[in-house]
Amino acid sequence: METHLADFIRHTAAGREAEEILRRCVHCGFCNATCPTYQLLGDELDSPRGRIYLIKQVLEGAEPTEKTRLHLDRCLSCRSCETTCPSGVRYTRLLDIGREVVESKAPRTAADAFMRSVLRNLLPRPALFGAAMKMGQSVRLMLPGVLRAMVPPMSSAGPAPRRSHARRLIALAGCAQPAMYPNINGAARRVLDRLGIQMIEAAGAGCCGAVRQHLNAAAGAQDDARRNIDAWWPLLESGAEGLVMTASGCCSHVLEYAHQLQDDPDYAVKAARVVLATRDISEVITAEAAALTPLLAACKPLPEKQRLLAFHTPCSLQHALKIRGTVESLLAAAGYTLTAVADSHLCCGSAGTYSVLQPALSKRLLDNKLTALKAGAPVAIASANVGCIGHMQGATDLPVKHWIEVLDQRLSS
Ligand code: SF4
Ligand code: SF4
Repeated sequence: METHLADFIRHTAAGREAEEILRRCVHCGFCNATCPTYQLLGDELDSPRGRIYLIKQVLEGAEPTEKTRLHLDRCLSCRSCETTCPSGVRYTRLLDIGREVVESKAPRTAADAFMRSVLRNLLPRPALFGAAMKMGQSVRLMLPGVLRAMVPPMSSAGPAPRRSHARRLIALAGCAQPAMYPNINGAARRVLDRLGIQMIEAAGAGCCGAVRQHLNAAAGAQDDARRNIDAWWPLLESGAEGLVMTASGCCSHVLEYAHQLQDDPDYAVKAARVVLATRDISEVITAEAAALTPLLAACKPLPEKQRLLAFHTPCSLQHALKIRGTVESLLAAAGYTLTAVADSHLCCGSAGTYSVLQPALSKRLLDNKLTALKAGAPVAIASANVGCIGHMQGATDLPVKHWIEVLDQRLSS
């Protein structure tokens, strides 16, 4: 695509990157076919191709309007379009650049800006978010339905392993996950312990930065990355094998650290090492097949009526990390039968803070997703990202679990 970027951005690093991305797009529209918002709304401006065009116009000097921002806000950042694109267009990076410019040139209403500021400042602070979640959980049954759906009942991390191992992996506790679903990292710790690996968490690490990044606060997201690198570095230097992420959304964001901090002389090298050392929990467990297989063989046979599971593949797992089939293979090896799920490439509508900021569209995507997941009459739904798990569990009585919890339970039988 031919581009003539305006003076305000042409000679900046972001401008050069945007130009390179825009030039790759041949405007074929293949991506529109797999875009959830285009499927729901049928408006070209709510498709990847339409949004690329909107961003191009803004970067070429057109004044963005509220309507421009609305179409960009409606994007889930699900990256389904990137999976489909035959030209390798890095759409999400272009979206980040476009959103930042639109944000600065077309101010939001006071109410919208306030809501985003609350999310930016509450969610990434584990202590603050944890206290708010505890308060919500204590009055959960009295909350109105919409709020109750966002607040899971209180739960615990379960028993912690007592052994220690020479092999150590650093896990990210994250921001929302420990307050909402502490058993996810609890289960990961127990499964890794059975495989001879100690899972440790670094004091001082916190939100991966995805929340601020998605809310157009790139500088804050970079601060989150630096803080985490500072917390992880001494552990990496003292022999930890690497980092394991139990939320695929956090994993895909941490893998962006090298790009985010490439111009920071104090952090560029460290960020690159962190990226090389980071893996999703499904990759870690798969690599330990030699130790896992005999443990699974020693488990009691799984009763017939507990076998049927539906797996929801988060966008971050399939479109960002490009990990497909790995969790499914692990669950199959553990004795589960996975149901067929229609349109498994589509987002469930969670998408970070999307369910709060775009509730109507998010609900339509959620309803479609749950219909697809329930079609095979599973006994439970498994997934790989805390956001999807909470979003879906708030709208169904069917248990929704992280797959590592399913595996942990299986290994305890
Ligand atoms: S599929 Fe790729 S090249 Fe084609 S319009 Fe979409 S982003 Fe552009
Ligand atoms: S990231 Fe998802 S919602 Fe946004 S344009 Fe691409 S496919 Fe559509």
